[in-house]
Amino acid sequence: MQKIKAIVVKSNDRKEKDKNILLFSIEQGKFWATLKGVKGANAKMKLAQNPFTFADFVLEDGKAGKIVTSFDCIESFYEISQDVDKYFCGTAILEIINATEFSSENETAQIFVETIKALKTLCFSNANPIYVLDKFLLSYFEKFGYPIYVHKCSTCKTVAFDKIFFDYQSGELVCQKCKTFSCEELANTTYMALKILSNCDFDTLKTVKLAGESEIGLLRVLVRNFEARFDKKLKLIGILS
Ligand SMILES: [Zn+2]
Repeated sequence: MQKIKAIVVKSNDRKEKDKNILLFSIEQGKFWATLKGVKGANAKMKLAQNPFTFADFVLEDGKAGKIVTSFDCIESFYEISQDVDKYFCGTAILEIINATEFSSENETAQIFVETIKALKTLCFSNANPIYVLDKFLLSYFEKFGYPIYVHKCSTCKTVAFDKIFFDYQSGELVCQKCKTFSCEELANTTYMALKILSNCDFDTLKTVKLAGESEIGLLRVLVRNFEARFDKKLKLIGILS
């Protein structure tokens, strides 16, 4: 028997009455476990199939993998599912976790902490949900060792930008002189959004006000950077079409 703190990333149907849930924990990263009989009368266990649920799970090793024998909810993040904008951004965060391959315990632990911070901000503050998603991606790149330095050209180090480009090959900013075929010019408002969100944290996000729609422009850049770096497609339903 093991007890583990984890977040429910997603759930799939298994046999008639069972569900499989993908859990994300500090200790074991991502792994699947089975919820038995959740489509029957066991109402308490039903809650353990809801994405976002953060709980203490008690697990046992069964013949076909881990089985959840009980769980104790720490935070359901219920409010995220009650607001469509929060829901889409929260689902995007879980989609990013779903697409992530962790290569060390340190990486897993750091991303876990950022995920909880992002979900808490999304759930309990009135910060713009897209700002939360942008901030999560910025922290994510940093924790994976790919921070985006916002004040200088990553190639020639100049701080005097006329135009700013995002280099999807390196995942960094470059100036006009240093741009290559893999670069895309950033709108000034997108660059401002990048600078502002890089310099705040989840706690202060609710006080941030970005120029109209610049959070979406930035999100496009960050998602494209994610896909280029990790060679994975992200399906961000309801946000980017
Ligand atoms: Zn340069």
